[in-house]
Amino acid sequence: MMRAIPSKRIQVASNVGVRDTNKRVVLNLIRKKQPISRADLARLSGLQRSTISLIVEDLIEGDWVLEGPTGRLPRGRRPTFLRLNDDRAIIGVDIRPLQITVALSDVNGKFSSQEAMPTARNPKTAVDELIVRIQRLLRSCSARKIEGIGISLPGRVEPGSGRLVFAPNLGWTDYDIAQAVEKATGFDVEMENAANACVLAAVWFDHFDSRNIVVVTVSEGIGAGVLVNGRLARGFSGMAGEFGHVPLDPDGPLCSCGSRGCWEVFASNRAALRYYFESSAKSELNFQDLLSLADQGDGRAAKALETMAHYLGRGMRMIVAGLDPEQILVIGDLTRSWHRFGPVIQAEVQAQGLPGGVAPKLVPVHEDGMARLRGTVALVLQKHFGVGPEVIA
Ligand SMILES: [Zn+2]
Repeated sequence: MMRAIPSKRIQVASNVGVRDTNKRVVLNLIRKKQPISRADLARLSGLQRSTISLIVEDLIEGDWVLEGPTGRLPRGRRPTFLRLNDDRAIIGVDIRPLQITVALSDVNGKFSSQEAMPTARNPKTAVDELIVRIQRLLRSCSARKIEGIGISLPGRVEPGSGRLVFAPNLGWTDYDIAQAVEKATGFDVEMENAANACVLAAVWFDHFDSRNIVVVTVSEGIGAGVLVNGRLARGFSGMAGEFGHVPLDPDGPLCSCGSRGCWEVFASNRAALRYYFESSAKSELNFQDLLSLADQGDGRAAKALETMAHYLGRGMRMIVAGLDPEQILVIGDLTRSWHRFGPVIQAEVQAQGLPGGVAPKLVPVHEDGMARLRGTVALVLQKHFGVGPEVIA
């Protein structure tokens, strides 16, 4: 837990940092426990009632928190409950190789509208189209206070500048997406790698409380987002977590990044389709079709998925040996057939023993494609809230 700084210390240390920390603690407690009374906030934070009252006053004035409804307690006391102001809205954008989704969310990660469009090959065309959708969405919710725009994408963004530095599956090169959207809309734009966005969603909305988590997203490619000691790892140039492009076989098939035999060439959804096409006359199929075929008893489809699962496990050994996570969260369509993937991946991770002998817990996250979008909400809000328990991204 991010610790509240007890009131006694506030009296001597009245600096802005302490006040901000306590405000974040209270804001996060309301977010997680809402509806919640002031008395419970004091009990859970260890702060004095008077301090809580001042902070809550401040949060209500800043439109972050609303009062009501009134609760009932024994002996006739009627505390007023507090909850987050869901009139504050965030625009989330999920850019994928085939499709871009634009959605409107409240501060609790509830999405009220959502629209998708095909991803243009040229980044400028795609971003121009995206801006048109965002502006339309803004017109439809002009009464709400927009907090900002969060963008998740299958690539890496330079820390500090937000410039796109590596996005092989999009085929986009250096283009300043954030600046273009900011200029056209007037709102702040936060960009994040898709797997990192999923880490934020897991910590922020799903309340995973481990400080050492790796999220592996499996779709057209393979992404990884790394939480080490409670912090999102970005690395020197923003490339931390690019396990998907570590070559497992230098003579393997060509990868979208230009190398050969990268992990994702063997273990992504595209890889499973390639295994299937190599053994079948069919050539028009997507990954969901492949999962269905396997469930209907198509032995070749099952075999293709099993090969993919073996490679997923093999690649995860790099993650286990390098980062020693407590949990590996797996996100993607494959989680629908986890009975097929889970045991194979787990066995492969442990196949030749593990350094230290402890295997991380493998957790499939069933999220219907929303984790990235929810991550963009956390991305925009984290400057006000922090990212939950001791996580400062
Ligand atoms: Zn590659």
